[in-house]
Amino acid sequence: MAGEELINRWDSYLGKLKERYSEILVQADEPLNGVIEGLQFDNVIIHNVKNGLHNQTVLQLFEKAEEGWGKMQAEIYKSGNLKLLKEQGGKLESFRDWLNAEFTKFEVGLFARAARKILDNVKRHIDEKKLHRCTQCAAELPINVYSFMAVNIKCDSCGSVNTYQPDDRVRALEYYVLEPLAEESALEPKLRRDYDKSANKEYFTKYYTFLMDNVPEKRDSYKRTLDERLNNPFFG
Ligand SMILES: [Zn+2]
Repeated sequence: MAGEELINRWDSYLGKLKERYSEILVQADEPLNGVIEGLQFDNVIIHNVKNGLHNQTVLQLFEKAEEGWGKMQAEIYKSGNLKLLKEQGGKLESFRDWLNAEFTKFEVGLFARAARKILDNVKRHIDEKKLHRCTQCAAELPINVYSFMAVNIKCDSCGSVNTYQPDDRVRALEYYVLEPLAEESALEPKLRRDYDKSANKEYFTKYYTFLMDNVPEKRDSYKRTLDERLNNPFFG
């Protein structure tokens, strides 16, 4: 087979695999909407769905690409035009990068959709207007129901200290809602860091700034983690 014909065949093979990738996710869309509608206060099922789709798309399609490349290599050897090996082999790596980047976009978007649904459920469940009263004198306490850690509040009327334990569903927002939304806010540098090392710093800064803004009680701890990441020589 002539070089040009081989290249065309290889390009069209990889093109079909890309189409297949899109088809799988389009077909998954409606069932996924159902899964998201059915979420309550956690995203555990989303992890399972995501793993299944990752297997069907990234892993299986890359395996197919490798099979195709095996055949392509055999044809190239037969043709004797060995400079095609390096030139065309690079397309296999580009295809893998494409799959990974596309799937990262999909995954971050999926977890962000789930996060919004869970947040909605929690908001509907939590009574923000409920009065919290001092256990000693029954005076009203200024409680923020969206607290992520237990807080001690001194009663203005009698001076006794009350401990407020946030609702478990509110606590869980940090993991099921805020972290996925932080990932979404940092998606652009997250994708770029595959080929641009300096994007790492941007990614961590966006990610942790989102969390610092939304979980003020943990601001100091997030700030420390961010500083550790930024000062990691590996990302310098
Ligand atoms: Zn009191």
